[in-house]
Amino acid sequence: MDDRDGARPGLDEYREALSLAADEALRFLETLPEQPVRSKGADEAAMRFGGPLPEEGDGATAAVRRLLDDGMEAVVRSAGPRFFHFVIGGSTPASVAADWLASSLDQNAGGWVATPLGARLEAVALSWLKQLFGLPDSWGGVLTTGATMANFVGLACARRWWAQQHGVDLDEQGFVGLPTVPVFSGGYIHPSSTKAMAMLGIGRSRVRAFSADDSGRLDVEALQHALRDLGGQPSIIVANAGEVNAGHFDPIAAVADLAEEHGAWLHVDGAFGLFASVSPRTSHLVDGITRAHSVIADGHKWLNVPYESGFTFVRDVSLMAPVFNVVAAYLPRVDDPRPNFMNLGPESSRRARSLPVWATLQAYGRRGVREIVEQNLDLAQRVARRVDEAPDLERLAEVPLNIVSFRYRPPDVSEELLDDLNRRLGEAVLEDGRVFVGTTVYRGKVAFRPAFVNWMSTADDADLLIEVVRELGARLKTG
Ligand SMILES: *Cc1c(COP(=O)(O)O)cnc(C)c1O
Repeated sequence: MDDRDGARPGLDEYREALSLAADEALRFLETLPEQPVRSKGADEAAMRFGGPLPEEGDGATAAVRRLLDDGMEAVVRSAGPRFFHFVIGGSTPASVAADWLASSLDQNAGGWVATPLGARLEAVALSWLKQLFGLPDSWGGVLTTGATMANFVGLACARRWWAQQHGVDLDEQGFVGLPTVPVFSGGYIHPSSTKAMAMLGIGRSRVRAFSADDSGRLDVEALQHALRDLGGQPSIIVANAGEVNAGHFDPIAAVADLAEEHGAWLHVDGAFGLFASVSPRTSHLVDGITRAHSVIADGHKWLNVPYESGFTFVRDVSLMAPVFNVVAAYLPRVDDPRPNFMNLGPESSRRARSLPVWATLQAYGRRGVREIVEQNLDLAQRVARRVDEAPDLERLAEVPLNIVSFRYRPPDVSEELLDDLNRRLGEAVLEDGRVFVGTTVYRGKVAFRPAFVNWMSTADDADLLIEVVRELGARLKTG
């Protein structure tokens, strides 16, 4: 560590490196809306990092400068208003500032003893989130790194409950002597839920997904038959509130009816769709959600806080600690009345990710979150209208939330050529960099699926998306 003027070791180094980082971060954020989402030289810039491990380091400021010099060209401006690929949010000013503090304060949010601040703010953030989403305050909860781990936590509790029905404490004894776990879903199930099944030893291919058609829409009747066939055996149902291709929902209340009738655990993946509950325009989409046993959502998507941020809520809080507790003489006791989140989720040492979540809720409140969601709902409807008006675009699905499924379809191009044309167009849009949106396959057709999740996106950004697709499409078609 640098100690040039005999002051506290490292102090000048902190000052210089943090000021540089703050200045450059601000410059990045100031120019975010105008800069291309992706620089043409991004791949080459990323590859300039490497070489052998330095024997002698060159100090904090030089390292940060190097990071900026080569790094800024290699970033994708997914934090900005014209990134519509995947389902990616930006970060609000309050959440970025609080996230910097989480790093500077370097709190270990595993337990109250290590950080009353981090532990308390996690409890408060979870309570506020339950109020935001209309979930009962009696439910347990934990902050996770994202929706994949949030699904893992909810489904781990489901697995524990399922084994209890067979008289086994699975988290102590393992699967010995137990049958396979029956898991049901619809075609909307997200691959992170099946990944969680793999991590939980349940097995990816144990999931039986009942689709009514090629969109993946849940076949409620088939689910009902499968539950009946179990003859009262316990099972797990994964319902999906918001699928990634068109933002569609399973009928949660109808699934909850079936879960209650057949004694199944109902887990709801609402990574972004749970935010439908914050607007009266969309809250009907999650009707019945409070009848679930576990519900999850992401923070780093529609809440617009930095990575890594997700939440799990579990109706029966007593299931969480027996799955996740870590027992040692030097660690917080499991019966400590103060919150020790290392006993409720997968990580033991953990970042104080409550700080950005708490800060954004404190700064903008329920109304601020609702405004972000409704602004994005408006943009999705706007783009849907633009698609419908354009003679060379075709919308492929209803738009209940924030995703618009459509494709480029000029009248003089035959159906057999459309998939290839749209695939190439998707690549051209990404290469162009003015807006960012890739393609998927929806109902057997190559399609665009822009998702509106960023708090900064405007009508101009949405219009530019349509312009770019049509402009590059016309060029590809003739070229
Ligand atoms: C994004 C997403 C996930 C996975 O979330 P991560 O935060 O990337 O782990 C799970 N389910 C749905 C529906 C999603 O959209």
